Amino acid sequence: MSYQYLIQKQTAFFNSNKTKELGFRVQQLKKLKTLIKSSEKVLCDAIYKDFKKSEFDAYTTEIGLIYRDIDEAIKQLPEWSRRKRVSSGLLNFPAKSYIIPEPLGVCLIIGAWNYPFQLSLAPVVAAVAAGNTVVLKPSEIPSSSANAMAKLINENFPAEFFTVVEGGINETTELLNEKFDKIFFTGSTAVGKIVYQAAAKHLTPVTLELGGKSPAIVTRNCNLKATAKRLVWAKFLNAGQTCIAPDYILADESVKGELLSYMKEFIVQFDYSFDNNNYVQIINERNFNRLAELIDKKKIYFGGETDIQKHFIAPTILTDVTFEDKVMQEEIFGPILPVISYSDIDDVILKIKSRPKPLACYIFTNDSSLKNKLLNELSFGGGAVNDAMMHISNSNLPFGGIGASGTGSYHGEAGFKTFSHYKSILDKSFWLEPAIKYPPNTARKLSWLKWLMGN
Ligand code: NAD
Repeated sequence: MSYQYLIQKQTAFFNSNKTKELGFRVQQLKKLKTLIKSSEKVLCDAIYKDFKKSEFDAYTTEIGLIYRDIDEAIKQLPEWSRRKRVSSGLLNFPAKSYIIPEPLGVCLIIGAWNYPFQLSLAPVVAAVAAGNTVVLKPSEIPSSSANAMAKLINENFPAEFFTVVEGGINETTELLNEKFDKIFFTGSTAVGKIVYQAAAKHLTPVTLELGGKSPAIVTRNCNLKATAKRLVWAKFLNAGQTCIAPDYILADESVKGELLSYMKEFIVQFDYSFDNNNYVQIINERNFNRLAELIDKKKIYFGGETDIQKHFIAPTILTDVTFEDKVMQEEIFGPILPVISYSDIDDVILKIKSRPKPLACYIFTNDSSLKNKLLNELSFGGGAVNDAMMHISNSNLPFGGIGASGTGSYHGEAGFKTFSHYKSILDKSFWLEPAIKYPPNTARKLSWLKWLMGN
């Protein structure tokens, strides 16, 4: 089926108004959950092939999160999709005013490779809950996961409602030539720009979930042991191949030594060796080589072992790093953690502000005035205080970037809003027709109008 024909079919199905029925949406979400449940093993095997990812990680970072999103959407749908009444004001008396959420139409969702199921299907859940049809283009890089997902969806959903298109740059470029009603993209800032430009040709609204260098700031006044534990977990989950992983640490120079030694302790304790279930491999040779080149051997504090055959890079901490080092010039997206020390928090603020706005920022401190200063002065997508990455687990928190790290957000109701248009209606009755707005315009009418308009 050509992409043009596919979009025509989806448009026709959307125009049949079927997806506007809440019952239909709930039914499709339940069906998706049942399908994933019955194929959990197939999906886990596929992601194991791509990443050597354990069933534990596949559940906690991918499949379990999709179930949570589906359950929440089903439960909240009546509330999210309800017309919302707002005041009409005296000027329009007698009238009602309300806002109707309506689906956007045919949506293109483009996924990234690092969490192949979650990053593709979580936006799908939001799009379906909001009443849209979906063309999903997952990343081609984790090919087993993309194949398994395409098979599951395409064998069970009609293409006119929800379909998966497999492919890489060529297929995505062709899809982007078509006119969609919404594009939701997860991936790099560079490709985000290409998607944005393609969407602009059709004035298609876009959500961009991009990346960047997310800092973790460790101040002198914090629980260093807990800080080290939380940072190590967040950085080395999925071998650092997480968009909101702490990219680098800015540590107060008075606590840096202690922080480093605690982090080393936790890396050993968590046992991130190749042959167990606590760690994954680097997705491919291209990324392995890119990462291996970022390890400056003179600056290794801990780790640094690599094995190209196994696509394995051990959790690696670099110390005495400066902002000029190669590792600080691009998003790391792997298990390398540079630590930079600071003596003046205002220098830290200036440095972060001089770089593209990050997707996340983590602040470790017990000093509430310092916390509030950093929250007030730094701009970033979202983040956590005294933790890292866990903000993503709270679907009440809209998830997204700002500037170079993205535009728009999703998760929970934010996802529903992202895939909806809010249609504003003034609903008048015929029983009163005040003469005041109609000509002839008189000074007396003007003074009444001023009063009605609150002036
Ligand atoms: P990517 O930009 O290379 O690819 C993303 C998608 O775009 C893939 O489906 C790919 O097939 C397609 N694509 C690649 N090149 C293209 C081109 N020239 N034209 C059209 N389409 C193209 O990103 P990636 O390597 O899959 O993911 C890594 C990046 O994504 C990192 O920067 C990471 O931080 C970011 N990311 C962000 C989030 C988030 O939620 N904000 C989540 C995961 C990853």
